[in-house]
Amino acid sequence: MKLQKYMAHCGVASRRKSEEMIKEGKVVVNGEVIDYMGKVIDPDKDVVKVNGRRIKPESIKKYILLYKPEGYVSTLSDEKDRKTVIDLVKDVKERVYPVGRLDYNTSGLLIMTNDGDLAYKLTHPKHEIKKTYMAKVRGHISEEKLEKLRNGVQIEGYKTSPAIVRRLKENQGTSVIEISIHEGKNRQVRKMFDSIGHSVVKLQRVSIGRINLDNLEKGKWRLLTSKEVNYLR
Ligand code: URA
Repeated sequence: MKLQKYMAHCGVASRRKSEEMIKEGKVVVNGEVIDYMGKVIDPDKDVVKVNGRRIKPESIKKYILLYKPEGYVSTLSDEKDRKTVIDLVKDVKERVYPVGRLDYNTSGLLIMTNDGDLAYKLTHPKHEIKKTYMAKVRGHISEEKLEKLRNGVQIEGYKTSPAIVRRLKENQGTSVIEISIHEGKNRQVRKMFDSIGHSVVKLQRVSIGRINLDNLEKGKWRLLTSKEVNYLR
């Protein structure tokens, strides 16, 4: 099994994040630092340590839905020492990690798990699960500009895929827009609105596919139901 896949399987982090950890020299296999891609390990024989601690597959899979507040990073640690979403799930025994990211200033639904296969599936572009956001943006947005968002806009040399866009309300110089996208590029929703000349002042992710926040309080988490987990798989 590839080293990064094994790390995700052990609940260390997503495969992508595990690759970063390998490149940063944090991973040792049988006493040797492995800082390159392509290392294959035998889970029954090899001893793998991450940051000095031996890792083993987690037998219990945990699936959590967190209502992330603004002011938290959705990474496992932060070089600026800001609060991370891990601080909000301290009472979960298993080592869960976020599936994809929400910006520091974005709130909303974040799935956390130690199931590397599910995390991989959900973040892989080919699976294209729909994510819906509520964006409060500056100014009145013309119907023409909303249509541009629907058809795809250029952000950093890349054209976004078709989006579902609905105006929900408008008052005192701001508009509230619901936008659903299937992609997950870095700060994509903010960049999409920037591209049509309207900056986002508040952003919340309200659903991932058919899973939504329901009545969960901000900063709190709940387990995903088995129905929800099966739906995501
Ligand atoms: N798009 C953004 O701009 N930010 C997020 O956190 C998620 C999607």
